[in-house]
Amino acid sequence: MSTVQSRYAEVQERITAAAQRAGRPADEITLVAVSKTWPVETLLAAYQAGIRQFGENRPEELAEKAIRLAAELGDDAGIVWHQIGTVQSRKSGLTADHADLFHALDRAKIARRLSNRLVETGRELPVLLEVNVSGESSKAGFDCGRWETDAALRERLQQEIETIGAMPGLSIQGLMTMAPWDVPEPEIRGVFQRTRQLAGWLAEALPQLDFSQLSMGMSDDFEIAIEEGATLVRVGRAIFGDRA
Ligand SMILES: *Cc1c(COP(=O)(O)O)cnc(C)c1O
Repeated sequence: MSTVQSRYAEVQERITAAAQRAGRPADEITLVAVSKTWPVETLLAAYQAGIRQFGENRPEELAEKAIRLAAELGDDAGIVWHQIGTVQSRKSGLTADHADLFHALDRAKIARRLSNRLVETGRELPVLLEVNVSGESSKAGFDCGRWETDAALRERLQQEIETIGAMPGLSIQGLMTMAPWDVPEPEIRGVFQRTRQLAGWLAEALPQLDFSQLSMGMSDDFEIAIEEGATLVRVGRAIFGDRA
């Protein structure tokens, strides 16, 4: 067994155990293997090891790898490409053309660009809205640091999401968040809990839209995220090792 294969199996076992602790079926959790910075050869080996869900941070890197793997394996290789990092306007065409799920939609302007391109190509793109509930100014995402107590913020958020939800080609499926680094576990857990609660509030406020998917958790915190309701976990180092 290759190292990637055995690490992947280990992460899957930890996912199953975390789901059991939370009384959830493990098959409602998708493990996204974050292959950013790794060369195409590593992704091909991962594919041979059974990995089909790949996550990339940069749109140009996702596009290049998607094209290379399609050339090697064919268009029907069953790979799902996850754009997990935020996208700048001028790169949005790459995401519209190559991503299968975009986890980090963080403003209406990008949504508009994506939608325009999707209408041109006839493609559909499921998206998750990245939310910043920890209030850290360094973090991307819709500013939701005080969503529970700030009614004006909720109003703006609801309107902006409603606008995005009506754009052709895009379909909102849920939320994505990143926990702060180097903080005690209760704080990480709190960020995941508050994200799940925000998804619940949005589902009530905007019943025409879908907020059922929660992309939360990385190598260091995916088990906590699963206990708090994650349906997608984005795991890089625990599968591929430390990035160069
Ligand atoms: C790199 C990255 C991950 C994976 O991080 P690891 O610590 O390697 O598991 C997850 N999500 C996003 C948005 C990332 O950029």
